[in-house]
Amino acid sequence: MKIHEYQGKEILRQFAVPVPRGYPAFTVQEAVEAAQKLGGPVWVVKAQIHAGGRGKGGGVKLARSIDEVKALASEILGMQLKTHQTGPGGQKVRRLLIEDGADIKKEYYVAAVTDRATQRVAMMASSEGGMDIEEVAHATPEKILKVFIDPAVGLTDAQGLELARGIGVPEASQAQAVDVLRKLYRCYMETDCSLAEINPLILEGNGNIKALDAKFNFDSNALFRHPEIVAYRDLDEEDPAEIEASKFDLAYIQLDGNIGCLVNGAGLAMATMDTIKLFGGEPANFLDVGGGATAEKVTEAFKIMLKNPEIKAILVNIFGGIMRCDTIADGVIVASKAVGLSVPLVVRMKGTNEDIGKKMLADSGLPIIAANTMADAAQAVVAAAAKQA
Ligand code: GDP
Ligand code: MN
Repeated sequence: MKIHEYQGKEILRQFAVPVPRGYPAFTVQEAVEAAQKLGGPVWVVKAQIHAGGRGKGGGVKLARSIDEVKALASEILGMQLKTHQTGPGGQKVRRLLIEDGADIKKEYYVAAVTDRATQRVAMMASSEGGMDIEEVAHATPEKILKVFIDPAVGLTDAQGLELARGIGVPEASQAQAVDVLRKLYRCYMETDCSLAEINPLILEGNGNIKALDAKFNFDSNALFRHPEIVAYRDLDEEDPAEIEASKFDLAYIQLDGNIGCLVNGAGLAMATMDTIKLFGGEPANFLDVGGGATAEKVTEAFKIMLKNPEIKAILVNIFGGIMRCDTIADGVIVASKAVGLSVPLVVRMKGTNEDIGKKMLADSGLPIIAANTMADAAQAVVAAAAKQA
């Protein structure tokens, strides 16, 4: 789960990481009031969307008077902000952050992230802060320093210094930088992040270190123990289909292809997508209906998939273990009738009550293509989609 920068800074503040003073604003009036409270003389007006690259896209602007804050707030609120992370349509700006302007001497990059290869948290730092870190990673990877943290020990002073010195923090500010890294690590661990990134972390003219941006991703499997983070969720920033799916406890991720997949079990869902690709097709979604799906849940899953206008065919691939094939067949029939299914449907089911399920589908009068193996099913659905396209 992602959150906004101003929310990320609230969390950083709780962990005593220095951040600029600032207030969120949902209207131009609130932006003006925030600027008055801050007092100036320089303010930053920042678009709040769940995507990076706002600076380059025109979503981060400096103001030198209250009138200027007002003008910039009117300009940015409601705009369709396009960045390299939003996709071509951009994202509508509904919230702002009004902050004290900072005196930037140097911009660094620091982040904590889970490193799968070492199974540890990696703390990363770079002298090339502020800009596109993906570009730095691509063109000059040696400019990103990494240390891997022993969970029993935490970030050591030696590791902190290695990073602070390595990215060129002046000696007088190194202790502050190490302190921020330690706090960022603690914050990462205690809030169950999968990413905590400060870009830029700045050196101010007076030698102080401060976090000017905050980007957090949280491990959704740990959200049950962080209601305070769940409260930060902003549904306006999420895919409506994925929100709808989460209401029914369905794991759904929309993709770019045209073959809808309805599968039980995440592993089987991945294997199904791979098999579709192997035969030249492109999945339109990942969808795991889970182990204990009911006919109602399957119906909702169908409705969500079919809202995607790209869909040309659907593959249902079910292993009847806990989930019985007749339950799925019931769901498929009810859903097909309820939504007036207009695309070819390939069904493969194996396991408990397979014969009953297959008979129900055959007797339903629906134009369902039955398949026996994964390969048969994938080939059939790829062919059906190609005919429709
Ligand atoms: P992002 O582009 O979405 O990552 O947004 P950031 O919050 O990182 O802001 C982008 C850039 O705006 C930063 O790298 C800074 O160069 C600049 N910026 C942000 N806040 C201030 C500020 O208080 N003063 C000045 N001069 N520049 C700022
Ligand atoms: Mn940034």
